[in-house]
Amino acid sequence: MKIAPSAVPRSSVSGIVWPALPDPGAASMLAMQYQLEQSQWWTADQLRAQQFRQLHALLTHAWKSIPFYQERLKAAGFDPRTAVTPETFSRLPLLHRHEVQTAGEALLCRQLPQEHGQKYEGKTSGSTGQPLRYSGTQYSLFIGQALTLRDHLWHRRDFQGKLAVIRTHAGSTTITNWGSPVSLLFDTGPAATLDIGASINTQVAWLQEQEPDYLLSYPSNILSLANHCLEHGIKLHRLREVRTLGEAHNPALRAVCRKAWGVPVVDVYSANEIGYIALQCPEHEHYHVQSESVLVEILKEDGTSCQQGEIGKMVVTSLQNYAMPLIRYDIGDLAIAGEPCSCGRGLPVIKCILGRQRNLITLPDGSQHYPITGYLSWMEFLPIRQMQIVQKSLQEVEIKLVTERPLTPEEQEKLNRVLHDSLGYPFHLNYTYHQNIPRGAGGKFEDIISEVSREVPR
Ligand SMILES: [Zn+2]
Repeated sequence: MKIAPSAVPRSSVSGIVWPALPDPGAASMLAMQYQLEQSQWWTADQLRAQQFRQLHALLTHAWKSIPFYQERLKAAGFDPRTAVTPETFSRLPLLHRHEVQTAGEALLCRQLPQEHGQKYEGKTSGSTGQPLRYSGTQYSLFIGQALTLRDHLWHRRDFQGKLAVIRTHAGSTTITNWGSPVSLLFDTGPAATLDIGASINTQVAWLQEQEPDYLLSYPSNILSLANHCLEHGIKLHRLREVRTLGEAHNPALRAVCRKAWGVPVVDVYSANEIGYIALQCPEHEHYHVQSESVLVEILKEDGTSCQQGEIGKMVVTSLQNYAMPLIRYDIGDLAIAGEPCSCGRGLPVIKCILGRQRNLITLPDGSQHYPITGYLSWMEFLPIRQMQIVQKSLQEVEIKLVTERPLTPEEQEKLNRVLHDSLGYPFHLNYTYHQNIPRGAGGKFEDIISEVSREVPR
């Protein structure tokens, strides 16, 4: 772990500032960082071996204390007395979102080991608006915080800077530090939050007043902010980095943020019911799976693993949540498997996260695919601020647009061609113009919505 001299941990011993002796909570966090610092450089095989040791412990726990899983594990041939193999693991059926929704208490552990700390409960609406209840432990929260800190350290953030956060349920507040886990270890600069419900005008005025070094929000909101600033020539002079979370990343976003504010974008991939799944590589735009916390499979329709460059469904197993383990959980997102990273980290690479599976476009022959995302980069060259593709029928697709001005016939023609290529069929494109395109349930924006997707129960 590389800590700048300005970010030496806070000492708990009076009269001693350096080297610091942190208090026990901070020391535990640093001890975990020490291990994460080592394990990120292990080979893929070494990481997998340790994951399967932890997986065996998790499955044994699930076997003993959750009847729902005991039946599944028995049927797959799992035996707590022998090490779990990839073959046994792959025989376990996938756990779908609708099963988690209907299983209720059946997925909860009855005897939580004391050292995992207290159980907590949460609820997530997801983009569909159908709530999903989940539980975790103090230990699973601790792992999540350790990965938050890893993200900061990977991207060498200056903890003395000011952090601005715009998200749902945030309220308008200013606090004196970045909050846990950073403030647990280090003295930090201030943080300010604003609710995502504020208009773009209000958000921009707030950002000009706050002058943050770092800005964290959802990709669609950042895109609107950056476009607004570009259009009005507004600079955010102190801003050093934009951080995004919570939605499929829009490939046009990086270019727009560079143009508007001259800053890079760093994305994270997480889910409330799982925690962090992948963090952006410090040197590249792709993601590294957080193998110390989750076992990720990217699977083809036939259930086999995707090769590099192939699109498949994300299936995630959280390795440390003993209150409500999610084992082979089909999270509903599509992703492209990446090749090993030149940065040297052995953590597997996800090239791109494409978003929700229910947003696949259905062609008239019944086949489904995710539109090639090349169209998003075209937004840069056309006066388009926001676009949403809504498949209405097997022949018709509505293109909702928020534009700076009406498109010229040439631009319209160009967009038609790009969209037909991306969609893979000459759909009738029905353009509608809007002041803004509202977010879905849970405050998330979706680029693509299919109203005719094959019914996938969720
Ligand atoms: Zn890397």
